[in-house]
Amino acid sequence: MTNVPAGYVAVRSGLGEAPPATIIVLPVIFEGRVKAVIELASMQQFSPTHLDFLDQLTDGIGVVINTLEANMRTEELLKQSQILFAEAQEASKSKSAFLSMAAHELRTPLSVITGYLSMLEDGTLSPDKWQRPLKVLIGKATELNSIVDDLLTAARIEGGTVRTDTKTLDLRELAHLAVARAEARAGLLKAEIIYAEPDEPVPVSGDHEQLARVIDNLVNNALTYTADRPWVKLTVTNDGGPGLIVEDHGIGIPRDKQEKIFERFYRIDDPNLGPQPGTGLGLFISRELAERHGGSLIVERSEAGKGSIFVLRLPAATAPHPSGLLVNLPSAPIIA
Ligand code: ADP
Repeated sequence: MTNVPAGYVAVRSGLGEAPPATIIVLPVIFEGRVKAVIELASMQQFSPTHLDFLDQLTDGIGVVINTLEANMRTEELLKQSQILFAEAQEASKSKSAFLSMAAHELRTPLSVITGYLSMLEDGTLSPDKWQRPLKVLIGKATELNSIVDDLLTAARIEGGTVRTDTKTLDLRELAHLAVARAEARAGLLKAEIIYAEPDEPVPVSGDHEQLARVIDNLVNNALTYTADRPWVKLTVTNDGGPGLIVEDHGIGIPRDKQEKIFERFYRIDDPNLGPQPGTGLGLFISRELAERHGGSLIVERSEAGKGSIFVLRLPAATAPHPSGLLVNLPSAPIIA
């Protein structure tokens, strides 16, 4: 382009600037596709030698740009395949960990059940002495049931198919019921359970079954992980939003494990306590469910040998909206 319009572009140097006499626009083509465009402006005319040189130059640049692009694509693909490989490796590792844990956990109660059943079958025990074996059998079957339940819930959480039936619930009521459910076990363990709640309802919106499961898990852990007679305190609060505090005087959790216990299958082997039944899924499931409700579950404080405090926080229930009417809702929530 030799008739450069005024003001189109200026050639600048350290001292000054002036409109160019010629502008040359060079498409960089590789295999029929424009890869780039180079614009050069000059104060003089380009000579045929210049033009020839630039023609050859753009061919070379086209090849270089294409090679760079191909390299970048290869690098990106390599990165992606490395990520996929790591993910596949991780999945296969956790799958085998899952299978061996599940098999181990199921085998322990099953072998007790098989033992008792063959004892009943061989006739050495008269039916009037069946009371104790039957009790053990029922206990072990219940244990199997809850292991299978944990495994199914964890699988549903991972598969994203947990269904939530949300209603407005009083957190005090949920805690009451959990204490009532824990009483039989607490009696066997000669445990002390203390319960405290505010006078006013503590409305939360959530799934009754799922929240009951979270609270049961916290209470059961507090009863389990202790070397002496268990002591557990449940406090329902509405300070800073609805919450449930579960405190125990148990073996405590070392600081570096206080987050790890929320991971799938993570358990701490305590030499003073001996082997305890469990899948290491309870707290994983509980935290997932709490978070799905828009709440949280944390270890607030724990000290080895002194005990632990777990805190479950849930969002306050909002008052149900009267259908089709836009009104100013009362600030106090309505309990369904
Ligand atoms: P499980 O009880 O089936 O092992 P959880 O996920 O409920 O699985 O707990 C994981 C681990 O965290 C337990 O194995 C135990 O070591 C530790 N833990 C949980 N709750 C307490 C507690 N209240 N006191 C001390 N340790 C606890």
